[in-house]
Amino acid sequence: ATEIRLAARPHGAPTQENFDIVDIEVPSPGPGQLLVRNVVMSVDPAMRGRMNDVKSYTPPFVVGEAMLGGAVGEVLESTVDGFEPGDHVLHQLGWRTHAIVDAERVAKVDGSAAPLSTYLGVLGMPGLTAYSGLLESAEFKPGDTVFVSGAAGAVGSLVGQLARLKGAKRVIGSAGSAEKVRYLTETLGFDAAFNYKDGPVAEQLAAAAPEGIDVYFDNVGGEHLEAAIASINLHGRIAVCGMISQYNATEPNPAPRNLMQLVAKRITMRGMLVLDHWHLREQFLSEVAPLVASGEIKYSETFVDGIRNAPQAFLGLLNGANTGKMLVRL
Ligand code: NDP
Repeated sequence: ATEIRLAARPHGAPTQENFDIVDIEVPSPGPGQLLVRNVVMSVDPAMRGRMNDVKSYTPPFVVGEAMLGGAVGEVLESTVDGFEPGDHVLHQLGWRTHAIVDAERVAKVDGSAAPLSTYLGVLGMPGLTAYSGLLESAEFKPGDTVFVSGAAGAVGSLVGQLARLKGAKRVIGSAGSAEKVRYLTETLGFDAAFNYKDGPVAEQLAAAAPEGIDVYFDNVGGEHLEAAIASINLHGRIAVCGMISQYNATEPNPAPRNLMQLVAKRITMRGMLVLDHWHLREQFLSEVAPLVASGEIKYSETFVDGIRNAPQAFLGLLNGANTGKMLVRL
């Protein structure tokens, strides 16, 4: 068995040096536990936060210990009624090839209903983030013009498609390459998209949204947030899902410098955490899973192969190497 441990906490952008790849004996399950061989694991932007020694909504990773995160694996050994070898389970002990998990902390998943990887992406935590963030946090309503940043990623790509399917007037996305911009307009049906690296975000957004925006779904923060505040209409709503442009920052970012516009435009800006929206999970799955199965909602996955390349997958995620969900296939 192999696991990835946090070797040292990063200052600024993490590197391979922050990770240790360690070979260990395959562990044995105790009472109430399962031995699971992981098949696919997630790398998520939030893991960057957990590499810091900062108290947050999840505890920080411990230096010298294996990292944690979503994974789907196959049960190899079970001491628990109701779980058989061959079952697939979703759990939180990623970053390792083999995991000992408490049966009460896993969810069975069905690989014949949808590919196992989708339980970590479009039908999993990122999917529910998009759904609940748009509908509950941003209070989306038909006729809204919606702008989403990080639009070619796991969360953003679903936000844009849901807005379009639910009657948005116009859906605009930003992403970090020409190829991703083409993917947004040509494959996902966004009305407009731009590469934020091509020029000032405020100018590109204003050009893409001549009548302004009503909703901004923020995955990026900083200059994107400032541009959205500048372009947002009266009574506009901003769901703050993440601020990935800040995760490696060692100094506070000056933007947004225009928060006073919250007053003049009576803007609502609301932070969201997917954990608060778990009550929507059944509704989300019953609505979105059929649309994914029929192809009306499209999703992409970027796979990196092998546990030893998991750090590289994570570093790539932070640098935009992914289109759609970034995953490690084990
Ligand atoms: P993504 O699949 O979107 O991957 C991250 C993407 O961020 C990269 O592909 C890259 O794309 C983009 N990025 C990296 N650096 C920058 C930068 N400086 N400026 C602009 N874009 C950048 O990840 P997720 O879909 O998993 O997560 C998206 C956001 O949602 C993150 O902020 C994350 O923290 C947040 N999140 C929040 C949750 C909550 O409960 N609040 C739950 C899940 C996610 P590009 O090539 O376009 O730069």
